[in-house]
Amino acid sequence: MYLSYSKLSAYEKCPYSYRKVYIDRVKTPYKKYFSFGHSLHAALEDFYSGRLAYWLGLKKPTKENLIAALRRRWKSEGYSPEESAAAFEEGRELLENYYEVFAKDNFTPAWRVEPHFSFSAGRHQVAGFIDRIHRNGGGFEIIDYKTHRRIPEKETLERDLQLPIYYIGCTEYFRKKITAVSYIFLRHAKKVSYDVSRFDIEKIKQRIGLIAERMARESDFLPRRNSYCGSCDFKNECGVFKSS
Ligand code: SF4
Repeated sequence: MYLSYSKLSAYEKCPYSYRKVYIDRVKTPYKKYFSFGHSLHAALEDFYSGRLAYWLGLKKPTKENLIAALRRRWKSEGYSPEESAAAFEEGRELLENYYEVFAKDNFTPAWRVEPHFSFSAGRHQVAGFIDRIHRNGGGFEIIDYKTHRRIPEKETLERDLQLPIYYIGCTEYFRKKITAVSYIFLRHAKKVSYDVSRFDIEKIKQRIGLIAERMARESDFLPRRNSYCGSCDFKNECGVFKSS
């Protein structure tokens, strides 16, 4: 089975909506928050890729360069013109804060931005893209940007498979020594890092394999209530949502 973090996590959250999206391929309405997240990721991709500094002949891109990258990469799909202008201002404020906290005194170009990776977990293939990989002392750090309004509980983040999957991707696909894995919550200008010594590649692969086996055997695809039900595209046809 071909797997990604998004696919695994969608199944774990709710088998019913997973089936709709990944098996029935139901087309869901485009959400404006996709545009917001995409635009911020794209601006940071340019900022850290080194291309920006190279084009501008700078050792280090400035805050203005970062905002110019946001303007250039801004995606307005799903927004009315007024909403798009307001969302751009929100994005600008957020990246200005980001620059002050993370880049003003501490900028280095990334080793890679948005690289693709893949690895095998038993008879399954797992693939994806990583927002940024940075040199970190004698090793490398994996960075994933989030635009959540609320930072999830520590336990929720620790249970999540995203960073462990990226860790295996970097270790096995790029053959790099990963010394840190981090989320950066852009709305909060906050970085949450994890000690990679607790990552056991074989155990993570076993966990992926077990989820994949359940996915392969699944026949009921029952709805499972979760914290994303409110924004689910299928809530109007979902008995679990209606009864809660
Ligand atoms: S609303 Fe229903 S279908 Fe949608 S995620 Fe929640 S439980 Fe699943």
